[in-house]
Amino acid sequence: MWAFYDGEFVQEKGKHVQLENRGLTFADGLFEVVRTIKGRILFFEDHFTRMIKSAAFFNMEIPFTSQETKEFASELIRRNAIEDGELYIQLTRGTDLHREHRFPSEKTPSTFFMLALPLRRIDAENWKNGVKLLTYPDLRHKLCEHKTINLLPNVLAKNFAYSKGGYEALMFRDFEGKKVATEGGSSNYFLVKDGVFFTPEINNILPGITRGKVIDLIKKLDYQVVEKPVTVDEFLEAEEVFLVSTVSRVMPVRAIDQVCFSVCGDYTRQIMKSYEDLFFSSR
Ligand code: PLP
Repeated sequence: MWAFYDGEFVQEKGKHVQLENRGLTFADGLFEVVRTIKGRILFFEDHFTRMIKSAAFFNMEIPFTSQETKEFASELIRRNAIEDGELYIQLTRGTDLHREHRFPSEKTPSTFFMLALPLRRIDAENWKNGVKLLTYPDLRHKLCEHKTINLLPNVLAKNFAYSKGGYEALMFRDFEGKKVATEGGSSNYFLVKDGVFFTPEINNILPGITRGKVIDLIKKLDYQVVEKPVTVDEFLEAEEVFLVSTVSRVMPVRAIDQVCFSVCGDYTRQIMKSYEDLFFSSR
């Protein structure tokens, strides 16, 4: 297996990340997961732009342009003979031998690597019959609009859901006595009520690339979509619920904790269909 690591294509055995890398010692880094299909890289510009914005916010440098990165990524996918897969991109603030919390004073090059991975196995039944969500407190920090490699709370949330037979966690924050839903460990959520779509507004949650595409599709289909604070109770009282992400695409939800939903509802079906059309036609 080939990786792209600090400007070179390296084979797994040959690559060595220094143990003092700030990604390892401080989780001082960013990542992206981009879907590849038949060797094409889907919505690459959207993903890379998100990384550029966050890198600027955290004062990190991406060593390659979007065009260069895409070319390296295509070559990596080709070398690994990955047809349907996931391109993983990671950027960290580089190596810091002193392990000081503050940014290194001398100019330290960032660490940038990419992996071309086969698509993780997801049972097709999940798209057909829907998945179960488990509510779980959102234990994260205030930087959730960035795709940082600080993922321990997401790992705990998803692991909790899996351990209870679920697919994802529906995370929530307590606000003025209410449980306000945020997102999943690696997904965004939508609900449908009285023919209107609702999704949690971007307020310390990730502006998901799929979420953005789905909002556009809902509008194109002439439905109303409202981005606002959405409570867990509103999700429980919804007619339809679905999740979206790069890897799960659009997936119906059949239950949240003990509350069940009709699957697959008409609205969800339309969005799944529109997204699949976009997915297979995009470059
Ligand atoms: N929310 C979180 C916390 C995520 O980690 C992800 C993806 O991994 C998403 C939402 C979905 O984002 P995207 O559609 O860009 O994959």
